[in-house]
Amino acid sequence: MISSLSMYTGHAMSCTFCKIIDHQIPSTPVFQDELGYAFADINPKAPVHVLIVPREHIGSLNEVGKDKRALLGHLLWAAAEIARLKNLGNGYRIVVNTGEDGGQTVDHLHLHLLGGRLLTWPPG
Ligand code: AMP
Ligand code: ZN
Repeated sequence: MISSLSMYTGHAMSCTFCKIIDHQIPSTPVFQDELGYAFADINPKAPVHVLIVPREHIGSLNEVGKDKRALLGHLLWAAAEIARLKNLGNGYRIVVNTGEDGGQTVDHLHLHLLGGRLLTWPPG
């Protein structure tokens, strides 16, 4: 069966996170709904390190138009919801690396949720 994602975008062929959403690459799910999918980062930088991604392929924040405002808000809400599920009441950080200078290495928009330890500032 061809998944709905594969049908409406060709990105599932090449994008790591599209493949994860499409179950072509395994992941450890943390949260999911009709708009987003959240899974454990494979190389965690904190005791809790979750990636929250839109099911729809969006390359980065740089590519987000006005029509995606509600989706962005939804992903931020999902990150906060996961923080509550993970008992991060003492605090956490949400990061969206964007573009080359921002340190983005996977070109599918994602929020990092980091917590479970004291996070220093500023980042490198
Ligand atoms: P960024 O550098 O902001 O683009 O973040 C990409 C993140 O994706 C990194 O923290 C990686 O560890 C993570 N990552 C890459 N491939 C996978 C994968 N197959 N499963 C889970 N996390 C991944
Ligand atoms: Zn993608």
